[in-house]
Amino acid sequence: LGPTVTVGEILVEIMATTVGRGFLSPQPLVGPFPSGAPAIFIDQVARFGGAAGIVAAVGEDDFGVLNVERLRTDGVDVSAIATVPGKPTGSAFVRYRPDGARDFVFNIAHSAAGETRMTDAARALIGRAGHVHVMGSAFAIPGIAAILLEAVATVKARGGSVSFDPNIRKELVQGGEGRRLVDDVLAVTDLLLPSGDELLVAAGAATEAAAVERLLGLGIGEIVLKRGRDGSSHFSRAFGRVDCPAFAVEEIDPTGAGDCFGAVYLTCRRAGLPPARALLYANAAGARTVTKQGPMEGVSSLAELDDFIAAAGRGVP
Ligand code: ADP
Repeated sequence: LGPTVTVGEILVEIMATTVGRGFLSPQPLVGPFPSGAPAIFIDQVARFGGAAGIVAAVGEDDFGVLNVERLRTDGVDVSAIATVPGKPTGSAFVRYRPDGARDFVFNIAHSAAGETRMTDAARALIGRAGHVHVMGSAFAIPGIAAILLEAVATVKARGGSVSFDPNIRKELVQGGEGRRLVDDVLAVTDLLLPSGDELLVAAGAATEAAAVERLLGLGIGEIVLKRGRDGSSHFSRAFGRVDCPAFAVEEIDPTGAGDCFGAVYLTCRRAGLPPARALLYANAAGARTVTKQGPMEGVSSLAELDDFIAAAGRGVP
């Protein structure tokens, strides 16, 4: 029907090379690496072979060029990425705690992403899209929620579909506006991609089973729960429950796992693969991502995932 399209922030990530010291003293850094959850997602759709495009805004600077060139090289339609004079592309500095946890110093509050608008190029891309992927995190950026809702309405009206990663901060959902946005998107979602307690928060339910029942009752076609090292589960009226164990890998950098997982799952389903097969490819994509440093460095092609799955001795169902 048309490409998978998303709307959201593009930024770069720059990492500390020490553990525990943070940025309190000078040290060599690694990066910049292309980043931003929507950018990672859409890059993975294209790398896997799906038609893909993104509505976004970057600054007139190297960080913007780095991102746009990566997306273009990987096959993403970048025609609706605006370049905003006088605003920087956002950046995030990552520091590591001894227990493996990470903290971020963000420079995104006044970045070009906040200038994302429904331009003629954005309207043209959305007008030919067959699917919109909505990320809850994008709601935090001024102006983006309105573009996403318009994109959802346009794509639904022409018979397209919607996926929703409700990676929205809990405090935002509990506030009235955030909750309304989540409910508006849930009402038109075909594929829901929560991780951790996002399933319970999205459903306003106390248990996984109750949450799944409530959400399928809203008319959501399928729910795919991301469980990190414990793999993933699919729930739908058509296929019931399908579980898929994770691949055992050494985690170097967890950023991007959920986005790559979602992108591959969606692209498999849009291509007509059954849930069990889509879950296997998606788990492989999530696992491969965490083995690479840099949020977008672990995106996978179909051939790379076939090799990865074969090397792990897991047959494709
Ligand atoms: P999110 O990044 O949205 O929180 P997860 O952390 O659950 O999502 O990661 C998405 C998927 O990536 C998981 O369902 C799993 O298949 C895979 N994955 C993530 N972390 C690991 C890991 N440490 N080992 C193996 N697979 C992983």
